[in-house]
Amino acid sequence: MPRRAVVVEDDQIAGELAKSLLTQAGYEVDSFARGDASVLAAIAELKPELVILDILMPGEDGLTLCHRIKGNASLRACKVIVVSGKSYEADRLRAHRCGADFFIEKPFDPAAFPKLVDEVMSGALSLQAGTIPEIPESERPELSLSVWGCRGPGAAQGSTRYGSRSSCVSVEWEGSFFIFDAGSGILDCGEELARRGTPHEIWLFLSHFHRDHVEGLGAFLARLPPGTNVRLGAPKDPDRTLASQVEAAASLSSTGPIGASVEIYEMKEERYEVLPGVALAAFYTNHPGQTLGFSLKARGKKLVYCPDSELYGEGATAFEDYDDKLARSCEGADFLIHDGAHATTEHLSLKMSGHSSALDAVEFAGKHGIGKLLVFHHDASRSDEDLDRYAMDAGAKARTKKYPLGLAFARCGLKLGI
Ligand SMILES: [Zn+2]
Repeated sequence: MPRRAVVVEDDQIAGELAKSLLTQAGYEVDSFARGDASVLAAIAELKPELVILDILMPGEDGLTLCHRIKGNASLRACKVIVVSGKSYEADRLRAHRCGADFFIEKPFDPAAFPKLVDEVMSGALSLQAGTIPEIPESERPELSLSVWGCRGPGAAQGSTRYGSRSSCVSVEWEGSFFIFDAGSGILDCGEELARRGTPHEIWLFLSHFHRDHVEGLGAFLARLPPGTNVRLGAPKDPDRTLASQVEAAASLSSTGPIGASVEIYEMKEERYEVLPGVALAAFYTNHPGQTLGFSLKARGKKLVYCPDSELYGEGATAFEDYDDKLARSCEGADFLIHDGAHATTEHLSLKMSGHSSALDAVEFAGKHGIGKLLVFHHDASRSDEDLDRYAMDAGAKARTKKYPLGLAFARCGLKLGI
């Protein structure tokens, strides 16, 4: 018996294209040019295995219809792919909340469409499984993470949905504010703090002194209101004092005298009780020079920040024990932010680069039972389409391996619960 699909699309060309591609793929297709109650009734009657829905239509919009289909018990097995020609990221998020199985940006690629539909039908590709939903603005989890910058060195070109700022994330809860790295993303973090009223005390930890981790430091410190106290922890280079390293890093982007008072802490591979009930552990990562990763334990949760780190993966030799060492630092972690700078195919030729692929990060997090993984440190030359593709491949790997892993690709402005 042929499989049944329904296309709901008011744009005639896009509707006809979807219909003919699905027919070629062996589906029996019914189509509708608007969304309303009669269409929902028709879908309930037809019981298709797949519905393709346009978001903007006369009558009821596609996401409302998607929500109704997903709320209809008799259509539980039906997959819904939402298509839209605009504001991809915001719509994708809404589609996720309305229960859509996947989202395709229009105009879609006819050559890629059949494979994509197959993968959605098999569950290999899904918006719903293996993703970490963004925090709605009305909610504020106890411990929240904000991504201010997620790129490696070199500015990303043009406008990009993932953002062009370099490494910086913050973690906060009830008046405590921790920042990891001071790439250019920290400038937006500083603006947000100024908007809200900068807290008296800020904790700032630098993983290392490569430019993409410190280029925003000087301007950030210069813009803080006088009286702000910054506790800055960073690894020491054996050949230079930490103060001179911080000074050199801050002068990269300084726009004036520094108003905040800065206390500098030299960090080693050690565990620190930074506040009552808050533990921070530093560990060396597999990256050129003295590079630290950090684990933060607070409010019963553990987050690991490891932005520049080369995993050896399945091909590790007996001497390459970094993955085991990192696994010890990640023991019991709820959330891992890890380097995923490379696409897999390149990674083989880039061994010893100090960076990992998203697929290796998925394998590592899945194998060690980590709840959520945020793939981080995207190469600045990667386009949105490249990163979308890596994200889909990474999601497919997690699902193929049946890892119960929440997965997200970092983008500037992303806010997640830990
Ligand atoms: Zn880096």
